[in-house]
Amino acid sequence: MRTQLTNDTHWISECHKTDGAHEHVNVYLIEEDDDYLLIDSGSFHDRETIKRKIESETDGQGLDAIILSHSDYPHSGNVSEFRSEWDDVTLIASCGSPRLQGISNAIRCQIGKSMEIIGREFSFIDPPLADRSHTTWIYDHGDNVLYTADGFGNYHGPGECKYTSRDFPRGITAESVYEYHRDSLVWLRYVDPKRLEAAINTIFSEYKVDWVAPVHGNPIAGEDLSAYIADLIDGASRISAEYESRRPDQMQ
Ligand SMILES: [Zn+2]
Ligand SMILES: [Zn+2]
Repeated sequence: MRTQLTNDTHWISECHKTDGAHEHVNVYLIEEDDDYLLIDSGSFHDRETIKRKIESETDGQGLDAIILSHSDYPHSGNVSEFRSEWDDVTLIASCGSPRLQGISNAIRCQIGKSMEIIGREFSFIDPPLADRSHTTWIYDHGDNVLYTADGFGNYHGPGECKYTSRDFPRGITAESVYEYHRDSLVWLRYVDPKRLEAAINTIFSEYKVDWVAPVHGNPIAGEDLSAYIADLIDGASRISAEYESRRPDQMQ
């Protein structure tokens, strides 16, 4: 099972059991000329495992930079520890007041802009799927990977923890995409699926995406993206229809 997603990108797959299904809390390690950057920092439950995997992938060198998609705990839970573990780890975050959210000395990235980090270009995209302000999707121009934070997730079963979309015999299931978004992105019920689809299509027309790398799902290969997006939009329609049918003003 591959956890090397692209030339420079290593997927560190971590997951937790919730009611029989598994949910990922992934991080991704990017190498550029012997420098190493981590996308998000994972859950504190997985701190030791992630640290060990980073040590082994970097031949003991450790991290040079961390980019945070947002400061929710499962994403930011290991920032302080990783920064004290290795020297001079630059932190890049999009949040407006990092100090308030317990993150000090962060370089603020601006949504809608690009930035060079460890000699590599990253763009910061305003996400159509996010559960709070100051979330960014991160695009790596080096390997054409789009990091979608809480968006584009899915639940998976035992044995599928290290699958990419290519390894599922019938692809990532529509049901697991629907269930994940229903449970995790509660505000989706208020979203017009057509507008969501248009916003997603705009991003994919602006950026060439070979892989989508979510925090809470299996990575999705470029050739599987249109099927995934169709399932996501169907799921969003189901979520908003279920909400509509339960609204008090719709009751008899
Ligand atoms: Zn999350
Ligand atoms: Zn799993």
